[in-house]
Amino acid sequence: DQVANQIAAGEVVDRPASVVKELLENSLDAGATRIRIDVEAGGRKLIRMADNGHGMGRDDALLAFERHATSKIRSSEDLLSIATLGFRGEALPSIASISRLDLTTRMAEESTGTAIEIAGGKILRVDDAGGPPGTTIAVQDLFFNTPARRKFLKAESTELSHVTALVTHYALAHPEKHFELHSATHALLIAPPVKKPAERIFQIFGGDTLQQLIPVAAELRMERTGLPEPPPWKRDQSYTPPSPGHLRISGFVSKPELQKLNRNSIYFFVNRRLVRDRLIVHGVIEAYRNIIPPTSFPVILMFLEMPPEEVDVNVHPAKTEVRFRQPSFVHDFVRDTIRNVLVSARP
Ligand code: ADP
Ligand code: MG
Repeated sequence: DQVANQIAAGEVVDRPASVVKELLENSLDAGATRIRIDVEAGGRKLIRMADNGHGMGRDDALLAFERHATSKIRSSEDLLSIATLGFRGEALPSIASISRLDLTTRMAEESTGTAIEIAGGKILRVDDAGGPPGTTIAVQDLFFNTPARRKFLKAESTELSHVTALVTHYALAHPEKHFELHSATHALLIAPPVKKPAERIFQIFGGDTLQQLIPVAAELRMERTGLPEPPPWKRDQSYTPPSPGHLRISGFVSKPELQKLNRNSIYFFVNRRLVRDRLIVHGVIEAYRNIIPPTSFPVILMFLEMPPEEVDVNVHPAKTEVRFRQPSFVHDFVRDTIRNVLVSARP
């Protein structure tokens, strides 16, 4: 029912960047290796996500707009070890209830695809469609039917900067995939596939930033025994998962000279999910205490891998919050690992 969808939408979608996040995670879940995003008016007027993922058949495409119709959970045990990024089946119906949405999708093995047009949650049209394999979703006029929500949107440039930051995070976490972000007038990000995270950092931020970053890798025993998903760039033979029951940190931290003015420079992924967590940020800031001024922030790109039972990613529908079973353990490990690296990198 549309009211329920609009209420759920309030939880999932608070600004264009959250639409981008949900669509992007769906594309990654669908195995896409090429993702192109177009936005107009900071995402207010248009957000279009085009991927080359596995696409959907017609029934699945229609089902995707029913609430809780996730194709990603088959049992309640699955909830404990979620390997895909989405799992609630709320995003698409929510987004469709507060925008005009066009979906085109085709599975590689089928000659005809499907086009669906929805406005304010109502299906207006279902048709055959051509086009390349994969899925394209265009979200137009976000919040057109919820004026109260629309009022909370910030300036176009602000919304656009949130979208750009978000896409940048995901591009950093998936160096082996092709990402593009365009506004009506500019190419904001073009990142063809590379092999290593360091190459991606070079690609996006340039050599000067890369020079200022120190690689980090550390692992420590936790307790439980499940194995986490490998970080996205390591699904090849060279990747060895952490030992059972271990917490692993890998990534990059900045030398003291590289300082930023806000905490948007701190990027953390926990078992492949982008996370904004106060505890982790606190651990990072502790590590830099007396090393950089309290008004600046370091640049951090870090991937935590831990047994899935050690972290609850199901705290909030927007999914950037997590709850650790052993919060102080994680906090201290983050702090101490970064501290060690900074101390040993001292000239
Ligand atoms: P969730 O991701 O939590 O399962 P969503 O509402 O985000 O829920 O998506 C609903 C369903 O639509 C997904 O489970 C998936 O089957 C399908 N889907 C959404 N986006 C794509 C995409 N880009 N490619 C293929 N399938 C998709
Ligand atoms: Mg999803």
